[in-house]
Amino acid sequence: MSRILVVEDERHIANGLRFNLEAEGMEVEVLGNGAQAATLLLAERDRFDAVLLDVMLPGKDGYAVAAEVRAAGQFVPILMLTARGRAEDVLRGLEAGADDYVPKPFELAILLARLQGLLRRGRWQRSDHPATADTAAPDVCTVAGRRIDFDAMEITVKDRTHRLTRMECDLLRYLVRNAGRAISRKAILEDVWGLVDSTDTRAIDNFVVRLRRYLADGPGAPAILQTVRGVGYKFVLPA
Ligand code: CA
Repeated sequence: MSRILVVEDERHIANGLRFNLEAEGMEVEVLGNGAQAATLLLAERDRFDAVLLDVMLPGKDGYAVAAEVRAAGQFVPILMLTARGRAEDVLRGLEAGADDYVPKPFELAILLARLQGLLRRGRWQRSDHPATADTAAPDVCTVAGRRIDFDAMEITVKDRTHRLTRMECDLLRYLVRNAGRAISRKAILEDVWGLVDSTDTRAIDNFVVRLRRYLADGPGAPAILQTVRGVGYKFVLPA
């Protein structure tokens, strides 16, 4: 049975979510305060299989909660509830470490589908042989000493492994699949994150800074994630 933490202070929404998630056979706990949610997620790291996290919360807002638990190495899947049509809210949530988002007011079917997607991925990661069941080959790419495991959502350089959020993983996968081609920031917003109305490209730059750090891309190593001036980014496979 999947255990879900719902962090939402508007009681009618929280109750509606509890009712519907329990109807799907999930076990639900509700908290209405962001600071309490962060404390619980760090104290009991394996208690929940996923978190539904609202942005507007007393105590600490959803961005701060996501950022705090990620900074502490807690990688429980987080589905963030954001205001509709506010791409900057979405990007802020993804930057903070959310794995996915659903705009409010949400359609229940969409929320459930997104949540099930995160739960499937979580189960898959916990199993011993994630890639052998029904996929042909593990989705792994090794470039210049960096090992990128898209299934496990991890980058390993030497003996250091970094966990990726789903959005970081999706961005990197997109760049790797289009290796050698300059990819515009607009294409990243639209094709990778589904943000057709956004012109806020600063968030992408922040994601890339993070990915470069994970990839140990910098002085002394060949740059594999390059900036293309005036365009965007390019993943370069060293010769
Ligand atoms: Ca709220």
